Amino acid sequence: MLCLRTIADVRSTVHAWRGGGLTVGFVPTMGALHEGHVSLVQRSNVLCRRTIVSIVVNPIQFAQGEDFDNYPRQEARDLALLDQRGGCDVVFSPSVRELFPEGPCALAEFGTQVSVIGLGDRLCGVHRRGHFVGVATQVLKLLMITSPDVAIFGEKDYQQLQVIRRMVRDLNIPVSIEAGPTVRESDGLAMSSRNAYLSPALRVKAPLLFETLCAAARKLRQGAAVNDALEDAKATLLDGGFRSVDYFSLVDAESLEAVHNLDRPARLVAAAWLGAARLIDNIPADPAEAGA
Ligand code: AMP
Repeated sequence: MLCLRTIADVRSTVHAWRGGGLTVGFVPTMGALHEGHVSLVQRSNVLCRRTIVSIVVNPIQFAQGEDFDNYPRQEARDLALLDQRGGCDVVFSPSVRELFPEGPCALAEFGTQVSVIGLGDRLCGVHRRGHFVGVATQVLKLLMITSPDVAIFGEKDYQQLQVIRRMVRDLNIPVSIEAGPTVRESDGLAMSSRNAYLSPALRVKAPLLFETLCAAARKLRQGAAVNDALEDAKATLLDGGFRSVDYFSLVDAESLEAVHNLDRPARLVAAAWLGAARLIDNIPADPAEAGA
């Protein structure tokens, strides 16, 4: 497993692989790796002959006042985890300067921005202004650097996955986007680097987000009105110790527009604050199961 720091080194490595007819898979991450990330790397290793994992805490996807400075950074531990769990061929772990040589690098100061209008403005886009512009711009930069055949993203960040799919389609980027299922702790909490922000007392409460999504899906299957199921879910979270709920919604699985009847493939999506941690999660809500 090679750890590369420069764009030039990644490009020449990929060029050599391509010369040898090898396919390339790419897994972008912000580090603080866990089994969710590992599952995406393993999928890439199955799909492609070579795998690149990037580790970059992307400065342009954090709004002012968000947790960019505090976001966990633990490269040595990340490399050890990748090594133990099957590994990849290249870890691309550049300095922020390598990617943003003209810094400072807040989104507002970066001249070229990719905006996936509509999809990127809903749900988390309402509460984290500019977030998906920062994500799409950075992912496009990384795709231009790594030029993979396949890039793998987690369903855990369902809106991000849809934004990237749309960007790739609209800009004719020659890469296939693959999705990996959400990996959970044994109590159901979706693994996330931000779970480290939870105190032991709050960690005990955190699985309620997934439990509430599952309960809402169950109610919808039993024929409950969508609005009632969503309102009940928000109340459950607030009663269960969550500080606030940014959203708890039923949305079209592709456009992420609100759905008022379960008459098409949909997704239950939620974001809620538990202490200092903003937790997000989602599950499918299948119309075929409605009324079952
Ligand atoms: P992050 O490092 O949080 O930016 O995530 C990097 C990639 O890992 C994204 O595609 C995420 O959706 C994915 N990911 C994060 N958590 C999980 C999880 N629990 N299960 C599966 N994929 C995940």
